Amino acid sequence: MNVLVVGGAGYIGSHCVRQLLAAGHRPVVVDNLVFGHAKALPTMVRLHRVDLGDEEAVGRILRDEHIDVVMHFAAFAYVGESVTDPLKYYFNNVVATLRLLRAMLAANVKQFVFSSTCATYGVPASMPITELLPQAPINPYGQTKLDVENALKALSRAHGLSFAAFRYFNAAGAAEDGTIGESHNPETHLIPLAIDAAVGRRSALQVFGNDYPTPDGTCLRDYVHVDDLSRAHIAVFDKLSKPGAAHFYNLGTGNPTSVFEVIQAVEKATGKKVPYSVVARRAGDPPALYADSSKAVRELDWRIQYKDIDSIVASAWRWHSRSPNGYG
Ligand code: UDP
Repeated sequence: MNVLVVGGAGYIGSHCVRQLLAAGHRPVVVDNLVFGHAKALPTMVRLHRVDLGDEEAVGRILRDEHIDVVMHFAAFAYVGESVTDPLKYYFNNVVATLRLLRAMLAANVKQFVFSSTCATYGVPASMPITELLPQAPINPYGQTKLDVENALKALSRAHGLSFAAFRYFNAAGAAEDGTIGESHNPETHLIPLAIDAAVGRRSALQVFGNDYPTPDGTCLRDYVHVDDLSRAHIAVFDKLSKPGAAHFYNLGTGNPTSVFEVIQAVEKATGKKVPYSVVARRAGDPPALYADSSKAVRELDWRIQYKDIDSIVASAWRWHSRSPNGYG
């Protein structure tokens, strides 16, 4: 298939590009390189440096590249920033995505794979989280993703758009060979910050609260390897050939892992101590979030290759030790 990967030079998108190539597809990338890195892409992959909201340019690319399916990873994803600057999130994550969808319909491209998030569930009433739990986001980031999910439902009914929305838990890790990985600026995610603290590239890690109602008092999250996420995006293609198909899947390993357990995994991978101090809770952090992904396992035959936090962190370490400054 000819696959347009919007945001394909970003963290998850670039891993998906690799997986698409490995599965025999032809990825073409649209990325404005605000957060993406051209260096994250193999040289044989064509990169169109345009904004996803530029309907004319995107429409031309859809037609010229004979695109069959669009994968959309290009979103702003800092929860805290979404609270202080919601318009930035509504314009990029919602308005620009609607433009992309309009360009697709105009070009008669009707298969879409969307990066959604467990943040659409807000603070769920029960755990693990199934796709059937109510969605009640507690920040604008989660709300913008839910808004797009709802728009997709309407477009599938009105225009026969087929789509899959994947609700990611905590994307983590890096390509097995360590040549691409996570490189955010600013970095806010636990695993890269803990690695940087271990090797002395940053000062001590701040652990946001150890008084949660969890076994060791720190928050539980569901870390899922970026290549496992990517493979689900490709496995869903078969389901998109039916016009108007609408699919929602949680993607996580289902293993609740605490902040202290991540620190231990980083110490194991790096062979160094992670200096840390416990500070106040971070606003908006639910005590525990982990997935029931049995629907993806059942319907997509999704096989998780990185089942435990040690293997995920070890892959992240291969990337960070090889490229201490990310893509530079
Ligand atoms: N966390 C932490 N210190 C940090 C960054 C994160 O203690 O410097 C904790 C955070 O409170 C959460 C977990 O690590 O419980 C994962 O946070 P991250 O920002 O990586 O992902 P999120 O779960 O917010 O999407």
